Amino acid sequence: MSPESRCGPVATNDEGQRTGQTASPCNPRSKVEATAAELRARRAAGCRLPPLDCGCRDPWPCRCTRPPLSERTVDGYRAAARHVLRDGNTPALPIEVLRALWRRGGADRELADELYELGGVQ
Ligand SMILES: [Zn+2]
Repeated sequence: MSPESRCGPVATNDEGQRTGQTASPCNPRSKVEATAAELRARRAAGCRLPPLDCGCRDPWPCRCTRPPLSERTVDGYRAAARHVLRDGNTPALPIEVLRALWRRGGADRELADELYELGGVQ
């Protein structure tokens, strides 16, 4: 498959020589620039909003009203992670859960270290 058929037309000059890639979904640079522009627009929109009760401007990254993890929740994540590991797969746990497991020490800390080494962090 040619690059043109995968990514759309490639910009050329009058002699048919490539002048550079056009912005397309397949061009990683354009993806990075698009993501950066979207994040800047998001931040600008957040600055235009009145602050929330907690003081945050953007409700999306605000974690102020999220209740803390319960021991039971961490136990559930631990059991699920061990089950997935037993099946030969890598579980992806939220970083808060991994930190809670690590703080417990002992076997939970070993599990947290193992998951970190495997890359099982969301
Ligand atoms: Zn907040």
